[in-house]
Amino acid sequence: MYIGHYAAAAVLVTLVPDSPVIPIAVGVAWPDLVWPVLVLIGRERVTVGRNDPLQRSIRFDSYPFSHSLVLGNLFTLVPAAIVALLYNSVLVGVLFWVAAISHWVLDLVVHMHDLPVLGFGGKDRKLGFGLWQHPRAAFVIEYIFFAVVVLLTARPTVYVGVLCGGLFLHLLNANSFFGFSRHNPFSTPTRLALITLVGYIGAIAWFTLA
Ligand SMILES: [Zn+2]
Repeated sequence: MYIGHYAAAAVLVTLVPDSPVIPIAVGVAWPDLVWPVLVLIGRERVTVGRNDPLQRSIRFDSYPFSHSLVLGNLFTLVPAAIVALLYNSVLVGVLFWVAAISHWVLDLVVHMHDLPVLGFGGKDRKLGFGLWQHPRAAFVIEYIFFAVVVLLTARPTVYVGVLCGGLFLHLLNANSFFGFSRHNPFSTPTRLALITLVGYIGAIAWFTLA
């Protein structure tokens, strides 16, 4: 999931209106900011099929540090504590942590039964409801979910910037839902990691400025 994570960000910004936006915008993306780095240094593994650009064909072989419910979110207490120190506010640190937890919960809806629960290795339970199995529906549902949550929570003055910017970013991701290209343009773990990083840096900038 990509743009859908910013529905959670919109909720958190509304719940705590005085909070700074950047820690929330970074928090909802956190697992997907850590993941590319861990893939690049070989600590987490992914397999990308060259002949299929669809999201469902990406195999997340191992990503316990970035994407497990227990271990991943325990690790996230470290950046959350740093955020709390930077902003001199426990509340902002907690918001960052809750934002990061929301990432796992929303990923659960779309991922293909590959999200570890504990993350400590050995025989772990893996979850994922697999909405990506139905890529076109997943594309539409993710944006509708995002837009409805924004309309219900955000200030009307930000509707245009958030909804149009979100749609733009979602459309940039359309090939991985509709398969316009025959090959996956990001067909190596390195390329996929880098485009993920770029995508989220763009999303953080957009959500912070909108
Ligand atoms: Zn993720």
